[in-house]
Amino acid sequence: MVKICCIGAGYVGGPTMAVIALKCPKVQVVVVDISTPRITAWNSDQLPIYEPGLDDVVKQCKGKNLFFSTDVEKHVAEADIVFVSVNTPTKTQGLGAGKAADLTYWESAARMIADVSKSDKIVVEKSTVPVKTAEAIERILTHNNKGINFQILSNPEFLAEGTAIKDLFNPDRVLIGGRETSGGQKAIAALRDVYAQWVPIDKIICTNLWSAELSKLAANAFLAQRISSVNAMSALCEATGADVTQVSQAIGKDTRIGPKFLNASVGFGGSCFQKDILNLVYICECHGLAEVANYWKQVIKINDYQKTRFVNRIVSSMFNTVSGKKVAILGFAFKKDTGDTRETPAIDVCKGLIGDKAKISIYDPQVQEEQITRDLALKKFDWDHPVHLQPMSPTSVKQVACVWDAYEATKGAHGICILTEWDEFKLLDYKRIFDGMEKPAFVFDGRNVVDAEKLRKIGFIVYAIGKPLDA
Ligand code: NAD
Repeated sequence: MVKICCIGAGYVGGPTMAVIALKCPKVQVVVVDISTPRITAWNSDQLPIYEPGLDDVVKQCKGKNLFFSTDVEKHVAEADIVFVSVNTPTKTQGLGAGKAADLTYWESAARMIADVSKSDKIVVEKSTVPVKTAEAIERILTHNNKGINFQILSNPEFLAEGTAIKDLFNPDRVLIGGRETSGGQKAIAALRDVYAQWVPIDKIICTNLWSAELSKLAANAFLAQRISSVNAMSALCEATGADVTQVSQAIGKDTRIGPKFLNASVGFGGSCFQKDILNLVYICECHGLAEVANYWKQVIKINDYQKTRFVNRIVSSMFNTVSGKKVAILGFAFKKDTGDTRETPAIDVCKGLIGDKAKISIYDPQVQEEQITRDLALKKFDWDHPVHLQPMSPTSVKQVACVWDAYEATKGAHGICILTEWDEFKLLDYKRIFDGMEKPAFVFDGRNVVDAEKLRKIGFIVYAIGKPLDA
């Protein structure tokens, strides 16, 4: 029986390993993590992350061939294949702070693998890492000359939160990069055999290590660039009377462009896009490619601009001040069907409103109050200064309320901001909401989810991203 161990039981490690266990009943999969609360949650009925379909997959194989443990060293030592799916956030201090990937967790995992291993292993980079990381990992793994054969593979993950299980069941492709030596090719074949249990062989792409590592950064950069492109267009639509949905539809019909990922919004979020582009920018700068670095930087700058533009629109629409006014925030997660708030645009929008002394009332069906409070304590991203955690000032704390119902959030509000495209926001009784609000009542739809015309008929003043203002 092949034994797989995955270091890191997060948004990637947990779902990915659950699907491998389900699709490969003859493989034993143990997911390990240094976080006891995370492992306890995986071993309970309340999984630590919300992801449609995940509960069902875990239920089918937990205790059979899928296990979660904090005994990291034991399970790594016993494994044939070790996936490393630890977090690789942006560095906050020292060389490359604010841009470079922080590989501290990766390095400590690699050192531990080297120390506890007694048999040959395939070590798989599942985390997103800078191109050439495998070279450093190889040196760490072999530093103590124990004569163990470590083969390192790059197998970046392309799942999207909110659709992770669907994406893992039916991936567009699986990418495996390895050394061109016979050992490297044998390792690629072993990992390919695992995925081939359910992924059609023509969807499994095998490349050299550096192409695989760079492809992940490239994919995220291209996806984020697409959002920034359509968002840049949305600003021009608002200025000219064009409708961004119509423009997206028109350009998306061109098969060279395609219809996906063309929805204008308040901006992209999530733990990956910004982090991976910053990482790309840093790598380009390290290779003396300043112009290329500037090109990718612009994707983030447009994203920041879109969030600022949204806040400015709210404030200017509400007679140039939101001071003392209640603004309901519907949705805090960075997208629907996840409780993840990492880099969510809601953080910047809420902070912008708090800065203008609004009272905000937040409702999200999957995000807990303590998470929101923690997020709002984070300092805004700044190119020149690392990110610090700062407590919210006592006055700011008083300006924020978290509630568990959209109707409660909007009661007595002057305006509503929709920041996550949760389906339930389409189905709310907006007449009831309107009746309970101060007048004039505003809706600022940062995801273009509501029927603006219907809301205008009720009496709302509606602002939707990239739409004619007087429609
Ligand atoms: P996460 O923070 O949810 O999970 C990482 C886990 O690793 C944490 O639970 C942490 O406790 C654990 N960990 C850290 N160091 C450890 C160690 N030495 N030993 C054992 N456990 C350790 O992160 P995530 O969202 O799952 O992302 C993991 C990687 O995958 C990142 O590099 C990310 O860029 C990449 N990725 C993420 C997504 C996504 O949608 N979240 C998609 C594709 C790729």
